[in-house]
Amino acid sequence: MDTLIARAVTDLKNARNAVALTGAGISIESGIPPFRGKGGLWERFDPMEIAHIDAFVADPELVWRVLVKELKEVIDRALPNDGHKGLERLGRMGILKTVITQNVDGLHQAAGSTDVIEFHGTFAWQRCTECETRVPTRDVDASVLPPRCSCGGILRPDAVLFGEMIPPEALWRSQEVAARCDVMLVIGTSAVVQPAASMPIIARQSGARVIEINPEPTPLTGAVSSYLIRGGAGEVMNRIMAALEHPG
Ligand SMILES: [Zn+2]
Repeated sequence: MDTLIARAVTDLKNARNAVALTGAGISIESGIPPFRGKGGLWERFDPMEIAHIDAFVADPELVWRVLVKELKEVIDRALPNDGHKGLERLGRMGILKTVITQNVDGLHQAAGSTDVIEFHGTFAWQRCTECETRVPTRDVDASVLPPRCSCGGILRPDAVLFGEMIPPEALWRSQEVAARCDVMLVIGTSAVVQPAASMPIIARQSGARVIEINPEPTPLTGAVSSYLIRGGAGEVMNRIMAALEHPG
């Protein structure tokens, strides 16, 4: 077995309270392109024009047509991959307690993970701007835009738009969870954007092992993370889970 995989397996076996921090990289294998970077939505559109709360209030039809409908099509089709499934299995084994994610695709819940903190809310649900009723995005009929709730209110993503605050509860809980964990798996994120960026630092300062799984080194590597296992989320999680579930 690869030395780093063996090290991760030992660290996870000894863990009482492991936590995962995930980002766009874990969902690439599910066909969800990252917003930032090459091929991302923000290369084609200015987020301030189509993903800002002011833009939504001014012209919900435009935001639905350009942004939400496209994301809905991608997310409606997407299925959890081996990265999400591996974390769910770690949870069932009693090792992993919480997933903190920067993603809005709802794929950790779709994989069956039960305690998921979503910094940026979710695109997998829409919520009524009048009565706050939530509807799964999959069940929203987007043939007439903007779609409306049965009360007549306009539906909006249950995600944090630009110009909106990170839900304070998500922030407090993740800081608490990061401070208490003994292992933090950082998967598919360079964690340079706040508030995610502070979580591995809090974990490390509290004495946790920080295991980084990313295809390339990031600013965390050699600074905050204890070690980096290079590779895609699904592939690396499969190797770790195979060794954990079938030792020897
Ligand atoms: Zn309503």
